[in-house]
Amino acid sequence: MRYLCRLIKGKIVISVGKQVLKFATEQHPEFWDGETGDDQPNVKIDDIDVFMKEVVLSIDNEREDGSSLLTDMLDAAIKGAIENGCEGIDHDYQPKHRDDCSCDRCDALSADE
Ligand SMILES: [Zn+2]
Repeated sequence: MRYLCRLIKGKIVISVGKQVLKFATEQHPEFWDGETGDDQPNVKIDDIDVFMKEVVLSIDNEREDGSSLLTDMLDAAIKGAIENGCEGIDHDYQPKHRDDCSCDRCDALSADE
């Protein structure tokens, strides 16, 4: 297994080299020609260095709401980790609403203190 994503010096680092990007592009399910029976990619990279810059721009390209493919991935990864019961998260945490909130849940939380 290739480790494309690692924790390095306190940062999540995603590392995709030229060969991995080339492979991923040629195997991309949307550009793979499976219908003619030829089983070959329908895309050909002319210049991997230029194409890499384009992919970087595509990853970071912000939509009007500030989201991007990268934030989509981060959101999905965070959700996946939490839903899988990951360590490092207080899964019992229940925030209180405003200090003066007296809903049943906040009342119960206050009673616990
Ligand atoms: Zn409340």
